[in-house]
Amino acid sequence: MIDSAGLHTLSAEWMLLPNGWHQHMELSIDKDGLIVSVGPAITPPDLPICIPGMINLHSHAFQRHLVGRTQRFSRPEDDFWSWRSRMYSEAAALTTDSQFKGAQRLYADMLSHGYTTVCEFHYTHGAVQRDNAEIPVLMAESLLRASESTGMRMMLLPVLYQQAGFGEQPLAPEQRSFGLDTQVYLRLIEHLRDESPRSPLQSIGYAPHSLRAVGLDSIRAVIDHRADTAPHAPVHIHIAEQVREVNECILAHRKRPVEWLLDAFEPDSSWCLIHATHMSDPERRQLIERQITVGLCPTTEADLGDGFFPLSRFISEGGTWGIGSDSNLCVDPFQEIRLMDWQQRLSSRRRNAFKMDALLSVATRLYLQACEGGRRASGMAVGRIEEGSSADLVVLSDHHPLLDARTPDDALAACMYSGDKSVISQVYTSGRPRLQTT
Ligand SMILES: [Zn+2]
Repeated sequence: MIDSAGLHTLSAEWMLLPNGWHQHMELSIDKDGLIVSVGPAITPPDLPICIPGMINLHSHAFQRHLVGRTQRFSRPEDDFWSWRSRMYSEAAALTTDSQFKGAQRLYADMLSHGYTTVCEFHYTHGAVQRDNAEIPVLMAESLLRASESTGMRMMLLPVLYQQAGFGEQPLAPEQRSFGLDTQVYLRLIEHLRDESPRSPLQSIGYAPHSLRAVGLDSIRAVIDHRADTAPHAPVHIHIAEQVREVNECILAHRKRPVEWLLDAFEPDSSWCLIHATHMSDPERRQLIERQITVGLCPTTEADLGDGFFPLSRFISEGGTWGIGSDSNLCVDPFQEIRLMDWQQRLSSRRRNAFKMDALLSVATRLYLQACEGGRRASGMAVGRIEEGSSADLVVLSDHHPLLDARTPDDALAACMYSGDKSVISQVYTSGRPRLQTT
């Protein structure tokens, strides 16, 4: 329903607000898709259970092509690094058109599973059309077009990737399509921010790929550019995913990766560290102190055999975290959070691995925390049903057998520990429905 001021309303029997569940609630949404008020519903509600859309804080769209193609092992030592070789050949074959079509299918699939924002960590700057100087811009714009055509909100993070390993090793031939000179990279950022057609759903951030792929001077140039032109833009970086990477960093810099990053660049709360699987206790504590978000990608980390992130300790100490689909082996936020909780239960041999009280289900608490981490990592007004946030919403079905006769808290737990996308009946971004499955 649209009133004379151009506002429309959505109401639900139950809504998950930042402080928990509320009954009979109504939202007013303006023409830009922002929530302008949240209050009691006056008329019978339209929707059953409404939760904030989830933020996918780490995706490489093109890696969706690898799903099912990397599960045959030719050598006993097959690991992350051998998976990476297979990923290189997939990236080398990408064109602007294949990247657009693949991302469009992927983002539609993500939306149907309840992701409403994606932080796309984009380093496929162009391979087969490398003789075209415009190709890095066209490759990035293909992702923006995919986001706009599906209604998926996007923080596009063009990636700086310049070396094959610590110590300024030159890029290997199969990595060259990722490589950009620092000045070309910064111009790409400026072009995407100032000249490319962008919808209100989209924003641009920075992403040095990792400490092994970008040297100190280049990261410094990125940070200086950000300070001069977009001081609040998010910065994302892969870090400490593999033990080998930690050991190589210690050899090169005599410091562990997170320790070195913290000392060299003094990152603040607009940084998001992807994986950070292998941290020492002092590294973890410093990260929490600086309110830096950790981006966890449980299904990809499991698939690649990365290791366990100590989430229960991180949460108990006040850490901020969110989830990402990373290689896009799985695009279901419920499954990501489920796996993460189960990792903690298995390793601690407890059911209540997070030692939470019983006022809300673990599912609801973890869901809200992942939304908060995603909000901070994306730098966007998302992940909360509250005044001033975007009306990015997920509606749980009122006639799915799994959710029948349950409280909203139990219904969300049923989705988390047993559900799939069939529990979702509608998804909104900017207050506009993006799918109808019922
Ligand atoms: Zn990644």
